[in-house]
Amino acid sequence: MLISLVIPCYNEEASLPLLNEALCSVRKELPDYRFELVYVDDGSKDKTLSILRDVCQKDADARYISFSRNFGKEAAIYAGLSESKGDLVAIMDADMQDPPSLIPEMLRIMNEGDYDVVATRRVDRKGEPKIRSFFARAFYRLINRMSDVEIVDGARDFRLMKRMVTDAVLNVSERQRFSKGIFGWVGFKTYWLEYQNVERAAGETKWSFWKLFKYAVEGVVAFTTVPLRIATFSGFFVSAAAFIYMLYYFIKAIFTQVWDDIPGYASTLTIVLFLGGIVLIALGILGEYIARTYMEVKNRPLYIVREQSEIKKRSGKKS
Ligand code: UDP
Ligand code: MG
Repeated sequence: MLISLVIPCYNEEASLPLLNEALCSVRKELPDYRFELVYVDDGSKDKTLSILRDVCQKDADARYISFSRNFGKEAAIYAGLSESKGDLVAIMDADMQDPPSLIPEMLRIMNEGDYDVVATRRVDRKGEPKIRSFFARAFYRLINRMSDVEIVDGARDFRLMKRMVTDAVLNVSERQRFSKGIFGWVGFKTYWLEYQNVERAAGETKWSFWKLFKYAVEGVVAFTTVPLRIATFSGFFVSAAAFIYMLYYFIKAIFTQVWDDIPGYASTLTIVLFLGGIVLIALGILGEYIARTYMEVKNRPLYIVREQSEIKKRSGKKS
């Protein structure tokens, strides 16, 4: 049985040697399986590519593709999955935060149980900035309330999937990808393997606050249209409030017989600003969805390959 390991790498010169070592020992532990390592260099600016060239030259089971620029982890995952040929496919970070030592356990569960996917989830967020954990938790609560697709808190992209699951994921061909949601959307019987968070072995995280924010918006917009409905409801709510206020004003005026007692500057301004804010928010939400539609309609490729390792005879497929 062939197992493909898909490894997205962006500026991972420091962690690749460690990963390699770990993968070697895992492969020794599992002599009954054939392995295929699919490295995806996501337009790294450091020595990642030359390390990968080197690794793939020495290791007959390793291949790489290298992008023309940084297309993001989601694109790298997609590229790796489409290149993979294994009966089982695993996605794994290069920084050892997805411990390679879990692979034998994942394989065991896959073989013994009636599962199509063995996915992993961190039970804690040790070593992560508190503020990031806070926002992450809030995000998962929010998105799960709004969306029909379950997106598990602490779920990693680290997962072992049967061929049919991989094909299903590849068939979801949207350009703006949010893998965690796509994995949930395709379904299949999933076993959740829990483990303690491991800190990055070397190098630095690629996530800035802004990148994470964009990722969160992506997650929401890609998997639910509830925000559009929220915009509609708040419109209704504000109109109703305005109507009630108007009634109140008239009734009060009838009883007191005073029709223009107050200049009304402050209240008018408040209402105008409030409404303006709501309209802008609604427009913004609408814009997010229209932008997504625009990007999908353009139908650009998800990534562009600049270089890839020679196709090895064993894989038996033309490029
Ligand atoms: N990664 C990538 N492209 C990017 C950012 C990250 O391929 O634009 C890879 C990175 O090399 C690593 C994995 O995605 O293998 C996870 O990235 P990172 O460790 O920075 O994320 P974190 O673990 O902090 O969530
Ligand atoms: Mg990491």
